[in-house]
Amino acid sequence: MEWLLHCGFLITMCNDAFLRDYAVIIEDNRIVDVLPYGDARRKYSGYEKLDASDSIVLPGLVNLHTHAAMSILRGYADDLPLHIWLKEKIWPLEALLTPQDIYLGALLAAAESALMGTTVLNTMYHYMDSDLNEANAISKVGLRVVAGHVCFSWRKDEDKTRLDGMVKKWHGARDGLVRISVDPHAPYTVDPEFLKELRYMTDDFNVKYSEKGHITYHIHVAETKDEPRQIKEAFNVSLDRGVLSYLDSLGILKDDVVAAHCVWLTDEDVRVLANRGVSVAHNPVSNLKLASGIAPVPKLLRAGVNVGLGTDSACSNNTLDMFETMKLASLLHKGVNYEPTLLPAKTVLMMATVNGAKALKWDSDIGTIEVGKKADMIAVRYKGRPHLSPIYDPISHLVYAARSLDVKHVLVNGKIIVEDGKLKTVDLPAILDKVAKVKESLLSRLS
Ligand SMILES: [Zn+2]
Repeated sequence: MEWLLHCGFLITMCNDAFLRDYAVIIEDNRIVDVLPYGDARRKYSGYEKLDASDSIVLPGLVNLHTHAAMSILRGYADDLPLHIWLKEKIWPLEALLTPQDIYLGALLAAAESALMGTTVLNTMYHYMDSDLNEANAISKVGLRVVAGHVCFSWRKDEDKTRLDGMVKKWHGARDGLVRISVDPHAPYTVDPEFLKELRYMTDDFNVKYSEKGHITYHIHVAETKDEPRQIKEAFNVSLDRGVLSYLDSLGILKDDVVAAHCVWLTDEDVRVLANRGVSVAHNPVSNLKLASGIAPVPKLLRAGVNVGLGTDSACSNNTLDMFETMKLASLLHKGVNYEPTLLPAKTVLMMATVNGAKALKWDSDIGTIEVGKKADMIAVRYKGRPHLSPIYDPISHLVYAARSLDVKHVLVNGKIIVEDGKLKTVDLPAILDKVAKVKESLLSRLS
């Protein structure tokens, strides 16, 4: 399909500027031209026109840390400390989830994300060896996904088998929309030997399957203040210099590691992240809701660490809204540091686009709007919306004033996923109906 996308404002994320009344030309799944609309109308007169002249067009948002399937448990338990919340509420209910429930939860997460302008989900969950899994559900909605099977010490053999099956079946699937990652849960649930073994497996996969895209290593790190004590107690290792320094001593940190949270860091940890090129997924809403603390994001950025944004699951957020996440990230670090210049709008928008793509080692294809890249972009409608008028700076509006449901169009891989605010790829009412039924069934199974 050949498209001419007419943009009221265009933010390419390639430079500081925004362009007014521009066009993006798409052939199949790639961007082939970016030029003023007047020129485009003449040069590409036969192309199908998609109107975003009332909108700000920007690269699709990258949710760098989530657990998509957990959307099926949204709002089940709130207002508890992390360990009680997990052990007494979430894990018992999760144990009852069938592959069908997981698939449905991931469909729900993908539908929500698409309607809110997110085009990539980096998700960690339990992979079921069937088609009823997150990779299938999210790519069926039409989004890009990096899906991982979460690994724990107590089920090593099962995890390795599932991971192997997942990579063989799904890495590069659905026209390249799907990539797989290796996902040790956290340093307090995965022993040092298994962390290393999963690193070797990642490297080995990347030798075998590199032509289908890189396989990343996705792990929760330094989420709570108590984590060093838990690691020490579980595995009798030294944590004196910090959790990242401990992981570095195992030789597992490289530039394909996505470390989610990184709230409790020593200065040495910050240096390790920068030196090893590890990317951090910052999840401000989840960290605040679970009262885990506030990640030292300004310090990380100053040290040159690549930081992207995530929502975490819909159980600890309780939405997958990246617009809310952008605004909160900016305000949070300004507020707690008494410094309004921290995390300006442009920086935050980079975190939600370019930095996320870089963290997933997918930035040669996505993260910016430029010729040769895959056509992943969203249009945020401003026309007729008082809360987005007037426009001095569209980037300011995207971070501080826009609402996720202002998203008008979403394109992924050159395909229209959302048009005029309507999801085109799946039957949303049918999904929501099934979700309501699964909730009832889960509660009855629990009692
Ligand atoms: Zn998480």
